[in-house]
Amino acid sequence: MKVKLRSALSTTHGITAFVTVISILILLNRIVDSQFIEYVKQTQNIKLENIITDISHQYHDDWREFRIRQTGDRALEDGFVISVENSQGDIIFDIAKERESSPEELLSDISKSMKNHYKNWVGKITTHERRLIHENRQIGTLFISYYTPFYFTSEDSKFINSIHEVITISIFLSIFFALILGLLISRSISIPILKTTKATREISKGNYDEHISETFKIIEINELALWINKLAKDLKEHELTRKRIVSDVSHELRTPLAAIQINLEGIVDGVLEPDEERLEGIYKEILRVNRLVGELTKLARYENGNMELNRRVFNLKETLDSIVYTLEPQANIKDIKIIVNKTNVEYYGDEDKIKQAIINLISNSIKYSNENGRIYIYLDFKKGNTILEIKDYGIGIPKENLKYIFERFYRADKSRDKSTGGFGIGLTITKEIVEAHSGTIQIESKVGKGTDVMISLPGGKIIR
Ligand code: ADP
Repeated sequence: MKVKLRSALSTTHGITAFVTVISILILLNRIVDSQFIEYVKQTQNIKLENIITDISHQYHDDWREFRIRQTGDRALEDGFVISVENSQGDIIFDIAKERESSPEELLSDISKSMKNHYKNWVGKITTHERRLIHENRQIGTLFISYYTPFYFTSEDSKFINSIHEVITISIFLSIFFALILGLLISRSISIPILKTTKATREISKGNYDEHISETFKIIEINELALWINKLAKDLKEHELTRKRIVSDVSHELRTPLAAIQINLEGIVDGVLEPDEERLEGIYKEILRVNRLVGELTKLARYENGNMELNRRVFNLKETLDSIVYTLEPQANIKDIKIIVNKTNVEYYGDEDKIKQAIINLISNSIKYSNENGRIYIYLDFKKGNTILEIKDYGIGIPKENLKYIFERFYRADKSRDKSTGGFGIGLTITKEIVEAHSGTIQIESKVGKGTDVMISLPGGKIIR
């Protein structure tokens, strides 16, 4: 069964409040009752002793019935029916006889209110006999009848009833406020969730500009909203990148393919001569298409999630030497000098991939350096990290392009591609490789001044 969060929260809250409060009510009533019964029993004992003392004090050489009657009337109000016998065994006072009623009739008010209060109350009138003593001599006997094991006088009943009333009222008020609070709490949770859901639904439809602008009081929901906004922003960027990639790839493919098509059509129609120069041109275009497909395959392999690292310990200094050795001929074409300053560092990683990343960076520096340029390479180990820096004094990258530089197919200046032959994939791959090794890559660049790429890879060690 599916229920709305709001109903679920309010119902749970309501039930919890109800059960708790009713349990407290039952418990409290029981405690109050048992404590009160204890109290009543104690006061009744005291009252009983007082009656005995009171009656004993009425004796002055002889009994004074008038005084005894007063005490008897008061005792009856407290729930005691008394009769007094003198030392000769004659009854000198019997309130039941005087009022011509039985003790049950005299105490009927008590039994009624007790039955009201306790449905299962079975009161039994018990008569106790107490000796009356004056100056160490028995002057008579007191017979005292009352309900056992306990009873409440009308005063007691009034008192305990009002306590129960107060408890019940406050308990029901608590339930009422708990329910109101439950409703408010469930509203304060469900409304932000509904708003967040609405925004998420819009985002899933592709309306990435839809975002949650409100700040909610519940920290977790606020956090959720922030991440949903971030997700929408990322999705928007991904969507734009996807569109750009499709258009870039088709553009990259269209140009060489169109050139190949036109040339081949001309040759087939006999309009163009299939001379060496033309065939070489066609061949170059085919090479370019092939290179692009190769780059795309490489990218797919290196992209997040697809990269498998084949780690082993290798000497990074030696790897760097071999890369520089391979790239030097390219640099020599433009009379570029590569100056290497390296510490003997051993690193645990995927040598082939790290090699690929370094080749990409040095190749870029060669590609974007002017004739007679200089490229500095530093390899070091600092604070537990292997540091690699490649610095050139080439054409640099405009500041506004720097933040996109690691994106696929991003070229700072589209017109550069023809001369440099790049597709804007090298830095993307480099970054993926560095991050797969839990490292970071930073790039600083100034147009006309040059570019400085810094890589920091956790781990490694200097070897002597
Ligand atoms: P590409 O294959 O086009 O060189 P990259 O991803 O390696 O692709 O580089 C992306 C873009 O960044 C390049 O097109 C270029 O405009 C710019 N770039 C990269 N490295 C340098 C550099 N050292 N100097 C100047 N521009 C650079």
